[in-house]
Amino acid sequence: MTDRIEPPKKPLGPSTMSVHGGEPREKPAHSLTTPIVQTATYTWANTQELKDHFDGKSEGRIDYGRYGNPTQKIAESKLAALENAQDCLLFASGMGAMTTVLYALLSRGTHVIVTDDSYRRTRQFLNAMLPRYGIELSTVPAGDYEALEDAIKPTTRVLVSESPTNPYNRILDLERFAAIGRKHRVKTVIDATFATPYNARPLEWGVDLVMHSASKYLGGHNDLLAGAVLGSRDLIAGIRSLQATTGPIVDPFVAYLLVRGLKTFALRMERQNGSAQAIAEFLAGHPKVEAVHYAGLPSHPGHDIAKKQMRGFGGVVSFEVRGDLDTASRVVDACAIPYIAASLGGVESLIEQPAIMSFYELTTEERLEIGIKDNLIRYAVGIEDTDDLIADLAQALERA
Ligand SMILES: *Cc1c(COP(=O)(O)O)cnc(C)c1O
Repeated sequence: MTDRIEPPKKPLGPSTMSVHGGEPREKPAHSLTTPIVQTATYTWANTQELKDHFDGKSEGRIDYGRYGNPTQKIAESKLAALENAQDCLLFASGMGAMTTVLYALLSRGTHVIVTDDSYRRTRQFLNAMLPRYGIELSTVPAGDYEALEDAIKPTTRVLVSESPTNPYNRILDLERFAAIGRKHRVKTVIDATFATPYNARPLEWGVDLVMHSASKYLGGHNDLLAGAVLGSRDLIAGIRSLQATTGPIVDPFVAYLLVRGLKTFALRMERQNGSAQAIAEFLAGHPKVEAVHYAGLPSHPGHDIAKKQMRGFGGVVSFEVRGDLDTASRVVDACAIPYIAASLGGVESLIEQPAIMSFYELTTEERLEIGIKDNLIRYAVGIEDTDDLIADLAQALERA
């Protein structure tokens, strides 16, 4: 089950790894595809077999569904192969992964630092939940590495950040971030949902743990919710034992969908990177567009670091239209191909106005304080034909 494809002398390419990585060559019943083991529990031939299991003599066996599932293990081993990680653990959602990681690494009297443009629910958890358990939080401006280092105290255990960020595609220097953590013996955690292992592999820059919302590019079809955490065997073991108690596990069917979705992962990423770059360039030259936020544009402040640490720049393009909240809404409404929806990373293009989607309950002033402009649009590029997406955007901007 764990005869993951080990890269020979020349590492296998990302598409070969997407198709074959992490899966045994021979599967149950000679099935070509990884089967769904839809069970809540596992049986034992006799008492001795059970005792052997609890005595640690039966490697790979599982005794109850909350502790694992064979389909889940294949999905995890495929993701570990793609990320070049020692181990991977799947969760019921990205937030299930992030919150469990933080609970596992932090305890009463410790301190955690987060950069200010991290995922909104992650910051909410850090701000509103962890102080209830006696855990202290500092928030530092993203990109200010001096502030990050200055914020470290003797009680600091974890640095949390993200790259690229939502919705502005800000880029964190992963090598520098990891070095600060190592110097102060503090664990570093990166939410790499927007990058995916196709575009960046933070572990290779020295980061301790990588987290993904697998609901986005990894699943890739807007049909599942899951989360993943990857890192060293030791670190993942501690998180796994907490998950066994708190229970935010992934369902066997979702694990199957993830394995299935990952088969086309590299193909999808290649297309989404390419289309997003073309769309960003088109928008940058459009008279009705005030600003474009995409790390693949040389004008983007994170472009050079992104070039160093990324294969491509991802599938999300954010841009500001000339005008106000309503002008931007008219552009969104005039697009015929992308659906208006939250989320990103699937085969269908999605479009949204952050001021009306994730930040609707805030006032314009409150939104501006955290940098969310009314005229901002986030375009999460799918795998449709690039020319069709650009032509559709062109007519929408013309009509708005
Ligand atoms: C979606 C998302 C999450 C949360 O993941 P869920 O699977 O929705 O729980 C966390 N971080 C980023 C960057 C995301 O885009």
